[in-house]
Amino acid sequence: PEVVQQIAAGEVIQRPANAVKELLDNALDAGSTQITISVKEGGKKLLTVQDNGHGIERDDLPLLCKRHATSKLRSFEDLNSLSTLGFRGEALASISTAAHLTVITKTAAAVAGLKTRYRNTILEPPGPLPCAAQNGTTFIVDDLFYNNEQRRKALGSGAEEYARILDLVGRYAISRPDVGFSCKKQGERRPELHTVAGTSTQDNIRAVHGASIAKSMLPLELSKSGEEVAGTPSTENTLTFSVSGFVSCTHYSGRKGIFLIRINGHLVQCRALEHSLEAAYFSHARNKPFVYLDLKLPGDQVDVNVHPTKHEVVFLHQDEILACINEAVEGLLQGPIR
Ligand code: ADP
Ligand code: MG
Repeated sequence: PEVVQQIAAGEVIQRPANAVKELLDNALDAGSTQITISVKEGGKKLLTVQDNGHGIERDDLPLLCKRHATSKLRSFEDLNSLSTLGFRGEALASISTAAHLTVITKTAAAVAGLKTRYRNTILEPPGPLPCAAQNGTTFIVDDLFYNNEQRRKALGSGAEEYARILDLVGRYAISRPDVGFSCKKQGERRPELHTVAGTSTQDNIRAVHGASIAKSMLPLELSKSGEEVAGTPSTENTLTFSVSGFVSCTHYSGRKGIFLIRINGHLVQCRALEHSLEAAYFSHARNKPFVYLDLKLPGDQVDVNVHPTKHEVVFLHQDEILACINEAVEGLLQGPIR
């Protein structure tokens, strides 16, 4: 069974940034408004994610890391509406199998915090111990892949893994201006990345990517409501969606294009959309795009691919919607380089 667990763990968690992503999703699901990430050696040695969310009840601690232990109700419709970020009860099981996991948590109603350790999904004796803690939860991941040399060897340097974590946290920070994010190396005072809860998307683009990109952004707003899709006259076959976002209109000088796509409030990947945007930038000689799009679609028209590590989505009338977005982006790109 241990081998099976490790294989499964390897699917969800292949590098420190995957663990951070799962822990961020959980922190957001717990209603946090402040999330602090701190790492040592790019998360290979140590990775902590601290949130100020609702915390975990004592009774839930023993089975917290059991596979398919999840407090999040999910039906098929639930998946389609992307109502919570977690949807499998798989993440903590995987992390506790791939590393030494310590959890410190306190609910608002509890007088003190509780500290627990897990190994291979199992709560280590003597069980939850009282400790000082603020409201919320801290996950401490030590020695990722201590038991899996192959995975360890496949990792990049500490700097490379840290860059991946920073990229990921930057995406979350921009897409969730209602939450403050902070990411730093353990022991250093100044975080490399810092955003404040309650600022704007634009403020956070500036905080993460710098003033010159932020200055070159043009806003994009687009919506259709109930427009008929050609040749298919039925109620299901009407286009209803809205998009708002920002599009850079300059030669972005970073290493590669950056796409941030949110659908119904969640960061997702949509390769088809990225490819069509890339083509638009290319045809206007403005490669290296920076695009942030916030799409709202009818929940029952979005299909999340239920693969544990990917957030790739497809949606109904995708071609028509991509064409509308592309037209709007091209309109912006035809203006002067800013
Ligand atoms: P899932 O997110 O799919 O439910 P996870 O393995 O990621 O599965 O988490 C298991 C459970 O642990 C969650 O359903 C939630 O109840 C609890 N949990 C995890 N992280 C947090 C957190 N930061 N704050 C509060 N509860 C948490
Ligand atoms: Mg989760």
